[in-house]
Amino acid sequence: MKRTQHCNELRPEHAGQTVTLVGWVHSRRDLGGVLFIDLRDREGRTQTVFDPSDLPKEVFERASHLHSESVIQITGTVRVRPEGTQNTKIPTGQIEVLVKSLEVLNDAAVLPFPVDDPELASKVNEEIRLKYRYLDLRRPEMIRNLRVRSKVAIATRSYMDGEGFLEVETPTLFKSTPEGAREFLVPNRRDPGTFYALPQSPQQFKQILMVSGIERYFQLARCYRDEDLRADRQPEFTQVDIEMSFIDREDIYSLIEGLLKKVWKTALNLDIPTPFKRISFEEALNRYGIDKPDTRFGMELVDFTEEFKGSKFGVFGNCVANGGVIKAINARGLAGATQGQLEIMTETAKGFGAKGLAYIKVEKNAAGTIEWKSPIVKFFSDAEKAALTAKLEIQEGDLILFAADQWLNACEILGKIRLYCADVLKGQGKLTIPADQFNFLWVIEFPLLGFDREMNRWYSSHHPFTAPVADDIPLLKTDPKKVRGQHYDIVVNGVELGGGSIRIHQPDVQKTIFEELLQIPPDETQSRFGYMLEAFKYGAPPHGGIALGFDRLIAILCGTTSIRDVIAFPKTAKGVDLMTDSPSTVTPRQLRDLHIEVKAAVKKDV
Ligand code: ASP
Repeated sequence: MKRTQHCNELRPEHAGQTVTLVGWVHSRRDLGGVLFIDLRDREGRTQTVFDPSDLPKEVFERASHLHSESVIQITGTVRVRPEGTQNTKIPTGQIEVLVKSLEVLNDAAVLPFPVDDPELASKVNEEIRLKYRYLDLRRPEMIRNLRVRSKVAIATRSYMDGEGFLEVETPTLFKSTPEGAREFLVPNRRDPGTFYALPQSPQQFKQILMVSGIERYFQLARCYRDEDLRADRQPEFTQVDIEMSFIDREDIYSLIEGLLKKVWKTALNLDIPTPFKRISFEEALNRYGIDKPDTRFGMELVDFTEEFKGSKFGVFGNCVANGGVIKAINARGLAGATQGQLEIMTETAKGFGAKGLAYIKVEKNAAGTIEWKSPIVKFFSDAEKAALTAKLEIQEGDLILFAADQWLNACEILGKIRLYCADVLKGQGKLTIPADQFNFLWVIEFPLLGFDREMNRWYSSHHPFTAPVADDIPLLKTDPKKVRGQHYDIVVNGVELGGGSIRIHQPDVQKTIFEELLQIPPDETQSRFGYMLEAFKYGAPPHGGIALGFDRLIAILCGTTSIRDVIAFPKTAKGVDLMTDSPSTVTPRQLRDLHIEVKAAVKKDV
């Protein structure tokens, strides 16, 4: 059972040759008694011809009754297709194979959904696609995605190897370190009441590997987070996880720029320019209202705090008096926004605690003069209006949107609305972004800590192992809010591709962060991180690293918005594997072995 070619290989120069092909019955057409079967394998498609005048009756009969997706092997002669019947859409479109013999390797039952028509298949409900994932994966787009994934994984390994990195596997049965996302726990049969946890990332192991003197580590690491899943999250996902010793931030930037250059070349044959631009967290928020800006379009936030200081328009005047800021964006071409669209934007603002959303539609009135349509404009002074006109370059057709709030909130409100407006404008054809435009950006100088008002304590913006910027260390004791972390995120087209940091390698600084700032009680610090603090006492080199979201990276390269399209066997938004029907119940005996009793049998929500 040996094929002589794949189904994408035959060309007119093969005419006259006898070939053997194997694959799946992609489609079948009966034209005036002659049967055409498109045979498909992983590489492509070839048209085969069953001519009854040339074949034993039973072979023709058998071929006539084949279901789509049956697995067959044919042997036949290659011939050039007659003029006018050639298909320019596929590489084998100039030839066909006149079948001499057929072997049916396996019949297929009638399919739950068609896989031969890309249009139809892409409209199939995703739950059906996931239940029959093996059929879904037969679609050429899905095979292409898995191929890109494989090629990028191999390119990554070869690049990292070339840079002197060792690929080291770290355990997936790890210790529970309750922080950040919720963990998956694995009960330990040997010691009832104790549990392993699946790692959220190999963070601690990779730092320990630096203490071990590995110097350069990487891994395509599986990570687990038991979060309520958002659209593009999976409970298990893959990271390109990296850690290096004796380096600073610049080394990480150039390593990753080189890696992404190679990846883009491998997957898309595109040369991306390096080095990437850098932007501070503060500037990203001020200009784009988000810490992962999409810089492929403008519509930047403009600050009007100075202009509205003491404004007669109370909402703005009071906001500034209370230490807030006034910001605005100009959504050019959106003056005609519908009531529904404005409501969505208003709800966005309210989601941040704002009372509403102030906006101005710049449109011609019945008399033909341009008018600022908004109930708030009458409160604006001439100077305020002049400032708006000048700084937002206001013209007919504009929609001006405001946020008046504390700095971070005001930025984030407009950041979200800016993205929404861009989507609307894209839908209306007023904003076009080329599919092969990739704006990479390092976002740097994040605050090391945020303050949790409810818990009345600081929390790490990235994770507690991130080192403060050296100049800011004295501020840890006096003004922690001002301390910048040596943390960096890599962003492309508004998507966070990954992030990392230079780590704390001095055990005393690490202990201060844990105990004084994060207020983790000393005994808890000891039980959770004691082994790390101890390891750091025995010669920990300065080190740092980063992790890139591999699934997201592949999704971007494949031009899909869903990471499920680039994972062979993903789970649904509810964390269910529909093909194997997992998670599932287990036998009483298994539970007994694990010393687990299920108290309330919650009815499965199907
Ligand atoms: N472990 C971090 C994460 O998973 C990445 C890093 O700091 O290297 O986000």
